[in-house]
Amino acid sequence: SEIVSRYREMTPKSEALFAQAKAIFPSGVTHDGRHLDPYGIYVDRAEGAYKWDVDGNKYIDFFGGHGALLLGHNHPVVMEAVGPALAKGTHFGANHALEVQWAQAVQALVPTAERVRFTSSGTEATLMGLRLARSYTGRHKLVRFKTHFHGWHDHMTGGYANHFDGTSPVGVLDGISDAVVLVAPNDRDGVREALKGGDIAAVILEPTGSSTGMVPTAPGFLEFLREETEKHGTVLIFDEVVTGFRVAPGGAQAHYGIKPDLTSLAKILAGGLPGGAIVGRKDLFDALDYAATAVSGKEKIQHPGTYNANPVSAAAGIAALDHIRTSDACAVANAMGDLVRDKINQVFVEEGVNWACYGTFSSFHTFLNPKGRKIDPLAFDALAIDYEELKGKPKGLSHRIRVAMLVNGVDLNGWPGGNISCMHTAADMEATAEAYRETIRMLRK
Ligand code: PLP
Repeated sequence: SEIVSRYREMTPKSEALFAQAKAIFPSGVTHDGRHLDPYGIYVDRAEGAYKWDVDGNKYIDFFGGHGALLLGHNHPVVMEAVGPALAKGTHFGANHALEVQWAQAVQALVPTAERVRFTSSGTEATLMGLRLARSYTGRHKLVRFKTHFHGWHDHMTGGYANHFDGTSPVGVLDGISDAVVLVAPNDRDGVREALKGGDIAAVILEPTGSSTGMVPTAPGFLEFLREETEKHGTVLIFDEVVTGFRVAPGGAQAHYGIKPDLTSLAKILAGGLPGGAIVGRKDLFDALDYAATAVSGKEKIQHPGTYNANPVSAAAGIAALDHIRTSDACAVANAMGDLVRDKINQVFVEEGVNWACYGTFSSFHTFLNPKGRKIDPLAFDALAIDYEELKGKPKGLSHRIRVAMLVNGVDLNGWPGGNISCMHTAADMEATAEAYRETIRMLRK
């Protein structure tokens, strides 16, 4: 197609690198989310809201480090902290002052962080959350919501794409699916039904909905979950790996004023470097504590991890969290979210396409309308649409949109949509909406 030929013309060096990568990596990529047909760009450098590929093309970046970059690329406060930390050493294999300061920076923002345990990723944080809940309750089962993503360990694997029939994804032990109860998003009856047996250790969800609002959480549902889990002695886990320090400085729990028992964090937590954490109620963390388990007689949960609380990640994390606490970074990114959603929807109306740009806070999603129904983008209510339809992304179309957007200078993520940083400007949002207009026209040819 014309879109792909123009893309190939402008990205010869990326194509050459992909040819090498294909011979080494499955699908040529190192993260499923970076797979693009015919190939993704190879990035050379990034700054603020932009990135440049190896061919010198500049893009407005909405991948945002998979959500890690609320402050954009190379924010000065982060860079100034990372340099001196690197100079002191990349790994001490010991306790260090920065880990204490990092945890205190988390506590200054996240209302429920009585205890903190750092991990190396968000996946490890949700895994530890589940273990803490099991130890505390003496129960085994987990309730989670279809389309919600919590990383790729055995209990959580399969985000919005697969295995909603309850069978285990390939490579995962069959028995795991018996321990995981999948409920449709916002399904109160489903939750009541799952909890009534009294054998659920934890309920986990992305509080604003899957992929930061792709399938949004209905008003009142978080309060409902808080009440129901409390009634049944079940641990409530907010997976704030993306929403933490993004939707508000204190995350979704601060925004909505609801107290989960445990919260998983990562991404913005470490200022764009690798890192994660599980935080929450002190009594739940007793299972990781030598002295407390000696008293209770419970077996201690083991928790090693070579890169836990890495000092360079800690330095970046402290700088990022302090900046988020003392600036309007979250509010600016949220305002840019409102602006870009409006502008893109205006383009959809003007161009007469039956798509809608929607989302909450600093994220946006493109509803690609798999059933082709007539909709008004300016009055689109994602909550009124069944999640199966909402998550339906005709794969070929989604890839063509992303490639065409790259040709038009915008790097969207696979929703397709993106995470916005506080460095994006109104002019970037205008340019993004115009890139959608060009994309629609290219797709029509
Ligand atoms: N939870 C949520 C909500 C996520 O979006 C992600 C990653 O995108 C994870 C957990 C897993 O985090 P990580 O990729 O650091 O393992």
